[in-house]
Amino acid sequence: SERALYQQRAGFGSVSGKVPLGLKRKGLRIVVTGGAGFVGSHLVDRLMARGDSVIVVDNFFTGRKENVMHHFGNPRFELIRHDVVEPLLLEVDQIYHLACPASPVHYKFNPVKTIKTNVVGTLNMLGLAKRVGARFLLTSTSEVYGDPLQHPQVETYWGNVNPIGVRSCYDEGKRTAETLTMDYHRGASVEVRIARIFNTYGPRMCIDDGRVVSNFVAQALRKEPMTVYGDGKQTRSFQYVSDLVEGLMRLMEGEHVGPFNLGNPGEFTMLELAEVVKETIDPNAKIEFRPNTEDDPHKRKPDITKAKELLGWEPKVALRKGLPLMVSDFRQRVFGDHKEGVA
Ligand code: NAD
Ligand code: UDP
Ligand code: UDP
Repeated sequence: SERALYQQRAGFGSVSGKVPLGLKRKGLRIVVTGGAGFVGSHLVDRLMARGDSVIVVDNFFTGRKENVMHHFGNPRFELIRHDVVEPLLLEVDQIYHLACPASPVHYKFNPVKTIKTNVVGTLNMLGLAKRVGARFLLTSTSEVYGDPLQHPQVETYWGNVNPIGVRSCYDEGKRTAETLTMDYHRGASVEVRIARIFNTYGPRMCIDDGRVVSNFVAQALRKEPMTVYGDGKQTRSFQYVSDLVEGLMRLMEGEHVGPFNLGNPGEFTMLELAEVVKETIDPNAKIEFRPNTEDDPHKRKPDITKAKELLGWEPKVALRKGLPLMVSDFRQRVFGDHKEGVA
């Protein structure tokens, strides 16, 4: 077929999209959308270290050049300022599709743009995957479970999502992105992978991105009270970024489509999290209660049995081990003369 010919000429894998082993050895050509963001930039570091050629596609809505600047000048690295809502022509073997704001503050800022990014952006990247026979990985979210009525959440749970709420642009957007991914898989034989990521923290998070770990850490460092929303008894499970990146790469390289929960099952109330931040940064840190946001999920904790069994993956870094690693990065950026860069 035309596509097989095209792939052959470009030196790609077979029509099935499978990457021949020989190519793997020489290093793959990989696109990371959202690669200038928090998770994306850590993933890029691992792929570059492995010897792959990496193209970062990012519109810098929440991402920063500073996160990937250390690769500038490396011929295996390219950075493209591009919005995934617009079509894009590239020749690659794998696509890690991360582009989408992740913090509620950011994704609620322009909800229609968030939906376009999740729906049109994902459609474009799937169209690209189909055209060149690349393997496609979607970073979905634990938010697809909404305010879950099952605890902990298993991949087979369909969720409890408000379709008309202020979080819908993100959680319904990601649900549609999952649907598109499966429809391209079933209908166009695109090789796909779906990760459902639970709350992740670590160095390079935006200092003021509004997520709870970055808020508490920045507040404690600045000697401001930590803002606990609601009664602080809602729970989340916090995963260190290196564990997530390992999981994403295993998923991409493995044989299973998913979806897979990728998260750390260690569950904390926001009050407990504040306590850990206090122990880590400042024993005199105070907390301050604020009204909670609309539709805030009451509890969240991944069941990771499936990822353990099929990917041989489980998180290694407990909150009390990972938090100090993030704190030293935040300390430098909050107090160092190195200013938060503008992309
Ligand atoms: P982030 O905001 O740091 O990174 C997102 C990146 O995507 C940024 O660099 C941003 O500039 C870019 N981007 C946004 N819209 C774009 C567009 N239209 N075109 C091109 N680039 C665009 O967030 P993150 O925490 O690194 O999240 C990465 C991915 O993981 C997201 O898809 C997010 O939904 C998912 N995820 C993250 C978490 C978490 O806790 N960090 C949890 C669940 C899911
Ligand atoms: N697309 C893209 N890059 C490509 C191939 C496709 O951005 O290399 C976009 C294309 O513009 C379209 C979307 O992906 O909007 C879906 O493409 P597909 O070929 O699946 O559907 P069609 O173009 O037939 O609607
Ligand atoms: N939260 C909080 N204080 C903050 C920011 C968030 O108590 O300064 C709470 C928020 O209400 C939610 C939890 O922390 O219950 C996690 O929020 P986050 O925005 O980090 O991520 P989410 O899991 O909601 O996407």
